[in-house]
Amino acid sequence: MANPLTLDILRQLIGFDTTSAHSNLELMAYVQQYLSSHGVESQRVYNEEDSKANLYATIGPADRAGVMLSGHTDTVPVTGQHWTRPAYELTAADGRYYGRGSTDMKGFIAVVLAAVPQMVQQPLHTPIHLAFSYDEEIGCVGVRRLIDTLQGHPLKPAVCIIGEPTNMQVVTAHKGKLAARVTVKGKECHSGMAPLGVNAINYAARLIGWLERLALAKKTEGPFEQGYDIPYSTVHTGTVQGGTALNIVPNHCSFLFEIRNIAAEDPHQLLQQFRSFADRLESEMQAVAAECAIEIDITTEYPGLSTADDAEVVAFVRNLTDNPAKGNINFGTEGGLFSQVLGIPTVVCGPGSMDQGHKPDEFIEDSQIQQCEAFVQRLIKQLSA
Ligand SMILES: [Zn+2]
Repeated sequence: MANPLTLDILRQLIGFDTTSAHSNLELMAYVQQYLSSHGVESQRVYNEEDSKANLYATIGPADRAGVMLSGHTDTVPVTGQHWTRPAYELTAADGRYYGRGSTDMKGFIAVVLAAVPQMVQQPLHTPIHLAFSYDEEIGCVGVRRLIDTLQGHPLKPAVCIIGEPTNMQVVTAHKGKLAARVTVKGKECHSGMAPLGVNAINYAARLIGWLERLALAKKTEGPFEQGYDIPYSTVHTGTVQGGTALNIVPNHCSFLFEIRNIAAEDPHQLLQQFRSFADRLESEMQAVAAECAIEIDITTEYPGLSTADDAEVVAFVRNLTDNPAKGNINFGTEGGLFSQVLGIPTVVCGPGSMDQGHKPDEFIEDSQIQQCEAFVQRLIKQLSA
């Protein structure tokens, strides 16, 4: 069985509805109160509205760089999902703990917090840094402010472990992501006079078709990177809106698409090719009506993670875990930002599986919590020996 303190903390964390759209300050207050009851001071790094915050704390000597344990406190919504158990209460059953965020990723945070008393009691010769963020689920937004703050610190962490669910295997790579909104402005008229208007839906369809051909080209021509279920960059259109009635030529259509790129691919270069195609269509539209336009706005963007297999951090973290498996993950993390912006060697390793993340009746296995507890115990031992 997992440590009762871990489960108590997990129960508390799941009890806070920290869907990305909501404030996480109540959760932060609980965590800070817990840390300070063990004599650990922590710093908040707020968002612009002061409604959400990151937390940063260092345990152990402050005059040297240490190991950062990083996790996000926000969760995806439960809206539209059919839960058979309460989403914001921990339910223990059949060796599993159910609740929103149990695996993604309050389980990891609970294990780390439950080990704080030992971290404090041991004289650590190398510090452990805690970095808990907000707004990860909407595009790794919140952690950027923490990264800005860390950039000004005299000492940046030497190593970063992102505790996203990997079944405790050490993951060195994930793809980057660039998401954009395309807005097509056409010219409306009665559908009986269609050739006099500019049909925004038709132009959007041509743009979406171009993206689909790009996706197929990536599949057949690459570039490729082994280690992924899909070993090439993907391009996908996710939503589309346009038109008001069948007898009106639509003057508006917008859609969202994303590129998930492997390390060898620059998504901005692909975006530029897309823009060139859009420019050609735009001229065609403007020849009919000058007010027509195609706008492309990036909505979210984060870099991929690509840590070398022979990097020191990989051997270091592999020594701490029981799971010898290797492989990349199919979701993004804040690891790419820590690695690219701050230059901190980073891997992903955490309890649970993303098979259960973002789904109704999300759960984490007790055995995964226990493996993560053993992992953190080994880390403490290594940093205090
Ligand atoms: Zn996550």
